[in-house]
Amino acid sequence: KMGRVPVPRSDSVRVAVRVRPFSQREKNSGSQCVISMHSGSVTIRDPKNEERVKTFTFDLTYWSHDGFQKDEDGVLIPSDPASKFAGQSDVFHDIGRGILDSAWRGYNATLLAYGQTGSGKSYSMTGFGTDKGLIPRVCEELFQTIEKQKGNLEPQVMFSMLEIYNEQIRDLLSRTKAPGGLRVREDQQLGFFVEGLKWVPCENYAQIEKLVEQGSKIRMTASTNMNASSSRSHMLIAIQFKQVFLDTALTKQSSINMVDLAGSERQRSSGSEGDRLREGSRVNLSLTSLGNVISALADLAMGKKVLHIPYRDSVLTKLLQSALGGNSRTTLIAALSPADICYEETLSTLRYAERAK
Ligand code: ADP
Repeated sequence: KMGRVPVPRSDSVRVAVRVRPFSQREKNSGSQCVISMHSGSVTIRDPKNEERVKTFTFDLTYWSHDGFQKDEDGVLIPSDPASKFAGQSDVFHDIGRGILDSAWRGYNATLLAYGQTGSGKSYSMTGFGTDKGLIPRVCEELFQTIEKQKGNLEPQVMFSMLEIYNEQIRDLLSRTKAPGGLRVREDQQLGFFVEGLKWVPCENYAQIEKLVEQGSKIRMTASTNMNASSSRSHMLIAIQFKQVFLDTALTKQSSINMVDLAGSERQRSSGSEGDRLREGSRVNLSLTSLGNVISALADLAMGKKVLHIPYRDSVLTKLLQSALGGNSRTTLIAALSPADICYEETLSTLRYAERAK
């Protein structure tokens, strides 16, 4: 967004790019790095054509390599002292804090992780074990701040967790599966909502931690039963946060939405069953509509004329309608592999992320 005329709300959509380290498989196959970063810019080069180089600029960039020249496996890492190693706490500091800040001020906040399967979406959102990602860190700090604020206000936290697979909604906090999935309804006042979705009141972080654990298990089992991969579904964690101020009885309400999106890789048609094909196009439908919505919002924020924001095109964009646009703050994290073998997908992720600026 640098260099453009500043207009109000231009910070309503922020885009971050995070490159993960090489996987063992990439190292073993002698993969080379096709990405380099310099402060806000990301450069990608075509491994088949050294002259094809593209540079993109983003609000935030995260580099995950600890060395600058060659790492211990001899993989060449472009030298760039400006791109420092970024760990989970750095990402939380920049992105998670902003989300919490919005929520406390009564604005809806949305965090989306986009990228091909294996690019680091779950790592950034959930993390692994003690190496916690944004979701646990945001929830943990929300309650830490609530503890400090108690006495001034009565906080209420309601938690929900769902999965969108094939444009069907599954409640990840409920063991009973609604045939055909839960339905999206529209209310004049509330906008779109999921009928019958479980909302669990939470009083501390431990409760949320447990719910996320349960929900993740249900998600894994469900995808195993369907002989599918959870990388084909979107996972949405939503928190309704209400503050009731004790002195004035005024209230502030906001929602925090955190989405681990389905893998963005194109579904190959060869050898696919009819089901897989339909599923593939539907996974992409949500991702495409999301891209269209965010891009329209970004244009709007830049003062461009936008006639229509296509929220109604997919389940995901319907559910996020009140959390994208208006006074809401949205952050898109684009997750990237550094490896040459992922070049095509990485380039397509960068293009998607660029549209959101
Ligand atoms: P996705 O959710 O996009 O399919 P994952 O989050 O599962 O991808 O990441 C794939 C692998 O890469 C995991 O083993 C994960 O631990 C590792 N990984 C991803 N991002 C990072 C990172 N920033 N730092 C260290 N390891 C990472």
